Amino acid sequence: MFTSKKRLIAVILSIAVILTTGFMMLTASASDENQVKNNYSGKTPKYVFLFIGDGMSYPQIYSSEIFLGKKLYGDSKIGTSKLSFSTFPVEGTCATFDAETFIPDSASTATSISTGNKTLGGIINMDTERKTSFKTITEYVKEKGYKVGVITSVSLDHATPAAFYAHQPSRNNYYDISVELAKSNFDFFGGGGFKQPKGSKGDQTDVIEIAKQNGFKYVNTKEGILSLNSESGRVIAVNPVLDRDKALAYEIDRASDDLSLSDFVKKGIDVLYNPKGFFMMVEGGKIDWACHANDAAASIKDTLAFSKSVDQALQFYEKHPDDTLIIVTGDHETGGMTIGFAGTAYETFFNKIGYQKKSFLEFDKEIAQYRENTPASEAKLTDLLPSIKESFGLITSEDADASKNEGMVLSDYELETLKGAFEQTMIPAKERKLSERESILYGTYEPLSVTITHILNNKSGIGWTTYSHTGLPLPVFAKGLGQEIFNGYYDNTDLFKKMVSILKIDIK
Ligand SMILES: [Zn+2]
Repeated sequence: MFTSKKRLIAVILSIAVILTTGFMMLTASASDENQVKNNYSGKTPKYVFLFIGDGMSYPQIYSSEIFLGKKLYGDSKIGTSKLSFSTFPVEGTCATFDAETFIPDSASTATSISTGNKTLGGIINMDTERKTSFKTITEYVKEKGYKVGVITSVSLDHATPAAFYAHQPSRNNYYDISVELAKSNFDFFGGGGFKQPKGSKGDQTDVIEIAKQNGFKYVNTKEGILSLNSESGRVIAVNPVLDRDKALAYEIDRASDDLSLSDFVKKGIDVLYNPKGFFMMVEGGKIDWACHANDAAASIKDTLAFSKSVDQALQFYEKHPDDTLIIVTGDHETGGMTIGFAGTAYETFFNKIGYQKKSFLEFDKEIAQYRENTPASEAKLTDLLPSIKESFGLITSEDADASKNEGMVLSDYELETLKGAFEQTMIPAKERKLSERESILYGTYEPLSVTITHILNNKSGIGWTTYSHTGLPLPVFAKGLGQEIFNGYYDNTDLFKKMVSILKIDIK
């Protein structure tokens, strides 16, 4: 009796110790949060740039830097070449989880950055109940007299840009989102187009008409866009060349005389520049799309294009160093991209990435054409080998160039993998029934294209874990007024708090 009573007391005591320790750990993490520096009392910047690389975290940035380094040094030495923003004086890290998951989407993460609130995936600037709207950083700065610009390489009604002007229970409400854009009092929208300009059934008032009635000028020619300036008024500038999703082409596919993301940032600065100041959000949206498809070359080229667009802000900074702040970050990582693959162990061969001449999407078109024109009984992988060589540099051991380019020769294992993918690819997508194994191999992508990029990426020493997003934290680079408070390891909602403090906004 006595012994068991003693044991009971011991148990109660240990539970108390566990609870106390747990409480202490909780308070420890709370005080860590308090140590995040969200307060700034220095000079307020007039010009603020917020660049968001969609799906861009350390792997997307670092793979681009290794790729550049390889081009620069060849085999003579090992080294990276920095992107425009990775030389910024301050770099911090931010966590990306949303109100329900460690693997968030662009809607909830952009809501965190734009309003400082966590919400559910798919929601744009509303609470988890989809009832209360949150006020955005752009709405606050507009009230302070700043001009506001939103630029993206994907459609203007896509989740990330939408989170800087819209409030919607679902990111898929493309028409309602674009109506909010058209009715906004913001000053510049540039880049991609609208997915449903007349609604999902095509029976609503054209969003461009609503925008014009609200005083916007709509420009969608190259000449028109290039001639924009500070006298142009409030502008919606849509690239004349758009893909099926109303986005700019992947940088790897872009014709050299077509407009780039960088051109839109340049023109955005021209339109927005004024003595009271401006706030510009720029999204590099197709880094994410390339990584969903596990296409490293497309991801790297779009990351480089994003870096070039930051160069425009840096040139502006050189002219206005005492009035400018540039922030560059991502929203979440996509693809589980990494440097390192089981088949290449401790080595990388990034020069192989350079053989790829077009995105998976452009190659999909070639496959679709072949599938349409070839009876299933006659289809054979060898028919496509010449275009696989031309577009990705991959060759078989029988190819005439095999002996002088051994690194690009497909191994027996790789060739078998390619044959399996080819069989699936020849089945029209609607009739394809993928096993669990095949779903992991191909995701929802064209089996042959995704297998080709997997093989080329793996040969280069790049691995992928998913066709979705991951929970990896993100880097945050800052340069200019207030840069110092971006140091440290914090939450994505802190980005909003930091901007609020730097811009001296009264939160109502
Ligand atoms: Zn995203």
